[in-house]
Amino acid sequence: MKPIQRIAVMTSGGDAPGMNACIRAVVRSALYHGLEVYGIRRGFAGLLREEIEPMTSLSVGGIINRGGTILRTARSEEFKTPEGVRKGAEILSRYGIEGLVIIGGDGSMRGGVELSRISNVRIMGVPGTIDNDIPGTDYAIGFDTAINTALEAIDRVRDTAYSHERVFVIEVMGRHKGFIALEVGLAGGAEAILIPEVPYDLAALLDMLHRSYERGKHSSIIVVAEGACRAEDVKKFLQEHTPYHVRALVLGHMQRGGSPTAFDRVLATQLGAYAVERLLKGHTNEMVGMEGGRLVAVPIEYIQTTTKTVDVRKLELAAMMAI
Ligand code: ATP
Repeated sequence: MKPIQRIAVMTSGGDAPGMNACIRAVVRSALYHGLEVYGIRRGFAGLLREEIEPMTSLSVGGIINRGGTILRTARSEEFKTPEGVRKGAEILSRYGIEGLVIIGGDGSMRGGVELSRISNVRIMGVPGTIDNDIPGTDYAIGFDTAINTALEAIDRVRDTAYSHERVFVIEVMGRHKGFIALEVGLAGGAEAILIPEVPYDLAALLDMLHRSYERGKHSSIIVVAEGACRAEDVKKFLQEHTPYHVRALVLGHMQRGGSPTAFDRVLATQLGAYAVERLLKGHTNEMVGMEGGRLVAVPIEYIQTTTKTVDVRKLELAAMMAI
């Protein structure tokens, strides 16, 4: 098999802290191995507009600590069509790009799968999404930073909740999965956590609040994943049925940004370098990940056939801690 000489890297889908550290790792490890490396701006949308430029060691200097992505990111409806994928494959081939590292969420990995069906470009996915909902890896780049950012906000709110004897309902990201809510709920000592995967009962929530109040606990934090319910709706329900002062807070996009944690920087650096290593060894159509502290690679189609599930025992543990 002919060794590859030119690869490209892109970020796609929602931005996640640590993507820059991963771009840096891809570029520098590729250069280290004597490859040429290009950056594709704005994900698949930028690919279709040929926003492709050479990257140097210098072009990724001073970014390891920066949130977001210097390559920018975007969503592309055009790339979801067969014509869009064909056009993308043609552009990559015209630029002589033989390997493509795609850093993004499950949608972006799907884009990689579609590309691999009609193109000889070797595809290597790197999981980067604060949602952490990608199977084949324990952690996606950005999750650790997002939960620590949300946790900091919850800790601050707890001070006010305690001082004013209020109930705070805090909505965190997670349209389909409760990974963020579960982790920050447990770490933040939430009295209740509502996630999309587990049916919840607002009457049981009321009981729990009444019991805590009777025991002398006059403030509570309830963490909800946006996909389970809206903080505002829970607030309205509680206000109608209790005498407590209830506030709703939506953390929103602040969870996405910010300087990546040490964990995310190290993970991103390891995964970026490993993606290049796999390409150099001739592998293709894979997604790299970290499982049980080890670097792994799974066929990229794996993410379409499997779903990653939350550990519901953490929910039980949180309930036990709220007694
Ligand atoms: P996040 O989970 O953070 O939102 P994501 O990668 O899942 O990130 P998506 O918007 O689902 O974000 O996907 C990013 C892009 O990947 C899409 O805008 C599209 O260009 C491409 N993509 C997604 N699904 C497909 C598909 N089935 N075929 C081709 N391209 C796809």
